[in-house]
Amino acid sequence: VEPTVAVVGASVGGVRTAQALRAGGHRGRIVLIGAEAEHPYDKPPLSKQFLAGTWGVERIELLSPADRGALGIELRLGVAAADLDVAHRRVVLADGEVVPYDVVVIATGASARRPPWQADAGVHVLRTLSDASRLRDALAGGGAVVMVGGGFIGCEVAATARAAGCRVTVVDPLAAPAGRLLGPQVGGLLADVHRRHGVDARLGVGVADIRGRPGDLVVELSDGSVLEAATVVVGIGATPNVDWLEGSGLLLGDGVVCDRFSRALSRTDDVYAVGDVARWWHERHGETVRVEHWTNATEQAVNVARNIVNPDEPEAYVPTEYVWSDQYDWKLQVAGRPGTCSELELIGDPDGDPPRFAALYRDASGVLGGAATVNWPKALLTARRCIAQDFSFNDAVAQLGLTGRPAGS
Ligand SMILES: Cc1cc2nc3c(=O)[nH]c(=O)nc-3n(C[C@H](O)[C@H](O)[C@H](O)COP(=O)(O)OP(=O)(O)OC[C@H]3O[C@@H](n4cnc5c(N)ncnc54)[C@H](O)[C@@H]3O)c2cc1C
Repeated sequence: VEPTVAVVGASVGGVRTAQALRAGGHRGRIVLIGAEAEHPYDKPPLSKQFLAGTWGVERIELLSPADRGALGIELRLGVAAADLDVAHRRVVLADGEVVPYDVVVIATGASARRPPWQADAGVHVLRTLSDASRLRDALAGGGAVVMVGGGFIGCEVAATARAAGCRVTVVDPLAAPAGRLLGPQVGGLLADVHRRHGVDARLGVGVADIRGRPGDLVVELSDGSVLEAATVVVGIGATPNVDWLEGSGLLLGDGVVCDRFSRALSRTDDVYAVGDVARWWHERHGETVRVEHWTNATEQAVNVARNIVNPDEPEAYVPTEYVWSDQYDWKLQVAGRPGTCSELELIGDPDGDPPRFAALYRDASGVLGGAATVNWPKALLTARRCIAQDFSFNDAVAQLGLTGRPAGS
């Protein structure tokens, strides 16, 4: 009998796993379980084209009904998995249905971290399609927006809200937006771009309290200043969806802890995890990592599907990180782990029209540890390959065919 694979979580990690299983020759049943009622959709446009209203829901579909039918994927939507019974190999759904499996893939992703402040309502987070629909309606009101958190999602919401004509303030306790990932210098350039587009960037200051109701909110900052807003959006990170796995016997710790083959540490070897929820042993980094990037979910899905189809020859999952973000005229792409490096060299012109540059980051051992490029996809591709192959910093600069220029003072 062909094995049954249950995939829990029907977003990009889960959908891509199901597709890769079929592409890899899996002939048994695939049951894809998703807590949300909506047909599987993609998240990156939720802070960009969908939020701006230029794309409708049909543009963000992840799995068309025709593809689902052709691939023979059984969908259970609108019902969460409530329990994983590893000993009896079954997933128990919230409505009581029991889904038996031979192999299970956990792809339950992450949820937006809840705001700790007590405003009645009108404080948004942005993670799901319904979050994005609500926020889009609020932005259409045109009132002032306060964005709490200057990570990529916060920056993208700010850019989209500015394009919609809203007055926008971004608040973040860090000195630069996306500073943890990009470092102060490139983060500083990103802050300049937002300021040039009219965003009031309050950096290095936290939020003390948020009060009020929709359309009439007050945000009190830790420096005593007060901002008035029609809409407040809180983008302060995400937490992995592992609550339903309490008691399953899996090792949990900021995600589902996995070995280098994306296999959950458990008494059995038939549980895998993929995407934002997975914390796996990354051989090149020599530590466990959890990555909240779209490309990681798609690449890990391919690794997991491969290891399910070929259980006797599992392959380690050793990716080079990649993430992009679109803000104004910046098509920003990042590879590797720039945040772990302390030195960088900037090549190109951040002030050009359009701007075009690469920041190459040198890690402590003299190797290219990360790269961030703006409007220069070819440089990013080359840099990502150099990072994967442990190129020395100088060799990487040469490989790019570029003459390095010191990064200013
Ligand atoms: C607004 C926004 C913009 C983004 N932009 C970018 C970008 O520009 N570039 C980039 O690289 N990344 C971006 N990301 C990150 C990227 O979307 C995520 O890394 C990706 O969605 C992770 O996919 P996933 O399938 O692992 O998890 P998720 O997308 O979180 O999906 C998990 C799914 O599992 C479901 N689920 C949870 N618990 C259960 C349960 N118990 N039972 C059944 N189902 C359950 C959830 O409802 C959800 O549908 C963005 C994210 C957001 C929110």
